[in-house]
Amino acid sequence: MAEENNNISWRVFNMFLVLVVVILTTIIAYVYERVDGQRYRASLRGDLTQQASILRATMEGKLAQSAEIVKTVAALIDADPAVIDGRLSMIIDELLGDDSILRDIAIAPDLVVRHVYPLQSNESVIGLDYSKNREQFVAVSRALAIGGTVVAGPVKLVQGGEGFIIRAPVLSDEPDKQWWGIVSGVINTSTFYKLAGLANHSPQFDIALRGKDGTGANGAVFYGSDAVFRNDPVLTDIIFPNGSWQMAIAPKGGWPAHPPNFNHTRLIFILGALLTIFFVLTASRLAQKREQAENLLASAVDAVDAGLALFDENDYLVACNSTFQSYYGDKINLTNPRRRFIDILKDIVDSKMIPEAIGREEEWIAERIRYHRQATSSMERLLGDGRWIRIEERRTPDGGTATVTADITDLKKAKDQAEQANRAKTEFLNTVTHELRTPLTVILGFTPLLANSRELPSARKLQEVLEQDSPDTQAIRRCADDLIGEISRYASSMDKAGRHLLCLINDILDLSKAESGLMAINPSACQLDQVMQEIVEQFQPTAQDKGLTLNFESSGATVLADTIRLNQIMVNLVGNALKFTDRGEIRITAKDDGSFVKVCVQDTGCGIPNDAITNIFSVFTQADNSDTRRATGTGLGLAISRKLVEMHGGRIWAESEPGKGSTFCFTMPKPGHT
Ligand code: ADP
Repeated sequence: MAEENNNISWRVFNMFLVLVVVILTTIIAYVYERVDGQRYRASLRGDLTQQASILRATMEGKLAQSAEIVKTVAALIDADPAVIDGRLSMIIDELLGDDSILRDIAIAPDLVVRHVYPLQSNESVIGLDYSKNREQFVAVSRALAIGGTVVAGPVKLVQGGEGFIIRAPVLSDEPDKQWWGIVSGVINTSTFYKLAGLANHSPQFDIALRGKDGTGANGAVFYGSDAVFRNDPVLTDIIFPNGSWQMAIAPKGGWPAHPPNFNHTRLIFILGALLTIFFVLTASRLAQKREQAENLLASAVDAVDAGLALFDENDYLVACNSTFQSYYGDKINLTNPRRRFIDILKDIVDSKMIPEAIGREEEWIAERIRYHRQATSSMERLLGDGRWIRIEERRTPDGGTATVTADITDLKKAKDQAEQANRAKTEFLNTVTHELRTPLTVILGFTPLLANSRELPSARKLQEVLEQDSPDTQAIRRCADDLIGEISRYASSMDKAGRHLLCLINDILDLSKAESGLMAINPSACQLDQVMQEIVEQFQPTAQDKGLTLNFESSGATVLADTIRLNQIMVNLVGNALKFTDRGEIRITAKDDGSFVKVCVQDTGCGIPNDAITNIFSVFTQADNSDTRRATGTGLGLAISRKLVEMHGGRIWAESEPGKGSTFCFTMPKPGHT
């Protein structure tokens, strides 16, 4: 579920990344295209300006050259009108030459054309009276008015076609006459446009000219479309004598918004965006995989039962799992900010959570660091809360340290218990050996005496009496009685020792059967009073011998028990009570306790020390293990009794006050109890 959520958030993040890349690329592309468009238009304008100045220079050059020729002819006539009939024709021929764009020059004394050079194909002009030609008269009168050269046109020519006319006035020497006439040079517009470079300009831009008759920016458009002037064109003034034209150049179809390689640029941006998205998504996928791997590692580290911590080569804690943190509780700050090993140690010492460090803090830290510096180390520590931990450290190849901490409290407890059990077993073996040896010593001590019964003092005495010459019958009888009495005493001691041995061996067998689960019980309803009565009768002689009172309070209770085993339990408890009581009384009681009957054996004996009472039901345990303990025993009786009681479904316990006496109680189920 968590992983699914994680995947979803990664997907959202990836979409966000793609969106960011798309938006950023769009913004960059938009800004770039704008700037690039402006730069392109500026460069285009520069190109057109350059183009315009070339055209301007060409046109101005051609017009100036033509005007100069016309002015020269006018000056020649002005100097000597007779030149017209003389060598003017030859001079004009020379002036027009090969490179002039003037197609003809007309001379009009009194504003009527009388001469035209060359005459051929211009005959129709002869006789043209400017004062009667409305279209041409405007320019003629302007030239006369300003007394200088003017460029007129384009106008329709009398001889056909269209042309520019350069007019230069010739002033008069006569006092009543201001001007002599006018000299006009005609340029074919088509020739002019061609030679000026207008006719064959690049098809990528449009050119227009305005300022008919040299009226400049205010004049009418005479070449190209007036739309060019409305299209933010590059404007250039073409200056000539007493007038000007204005030329406009603009890209065909208007100024382009984008440079011609715009589609390539856009394609590059799109490819760039796709490439960036690919890289960003790949990086994001790698980051996701890395995060997943880290999460996996973190959860694996967290899943480990032991505490794991990693320190880098500078001894900073770089990672640890929750188990590791749990050992130090919230007393120690392990992660925030990054902590060094030494600082964590100082905090541990300050928190007093390690009992062995208290009072020797510096020494403990130095010792701990010494371990930490080793390639591998292992140590066990007792924490203040009673837990035992084992710390194992390994140096990693990159110079860091991996620390594994495990809670070994249970292990320690089990070890302690095993050691305690082992000690008890050893003590038991000592005790059993001692207990076995005592009766055996007795038996083996008497056996040689009986084997050599002739050497017995009473046997020797009998021998002496018998060897007398006349043995006294009375004496013989006395000696024989003594011998028999001595042998009986020895035999009875051997019998007692043998029985004790048997008891001991039976106890050991019983216990081993109970321990290995081989002992079976056969419970049946039995009268408790009857069992108790027999016990009292059995132990009464011993009680009387010790001067003790042994009582049983009848209860009339019935229990569900194996009579033999119940008897065994009672023999043990009453036997112990008699063994550990020197004066006073032993009382046996039985009381109803729910679905059980509680049986107690109370004595007024030596009692059991508090620290021993919890262990006396364990196998091989005696309250007094000293060599000087006064009562004999194996330490098995109560352990066997506990097993037997538990096999019946009951429980057994003891209460005691040292010096005042003890009470041993156990419960037995009533019939019908399951
Ligand atoms: P033992 O054979 O040594 O009596 P038990 O298992 O019967 O073995 O008893 C274990 C120990 O419990 C005894 O050695 C003794 O120290 C203590 N004990 C048992 N019963 C009594 C009692 N009535 N009064 C005082 N101590 C007792």
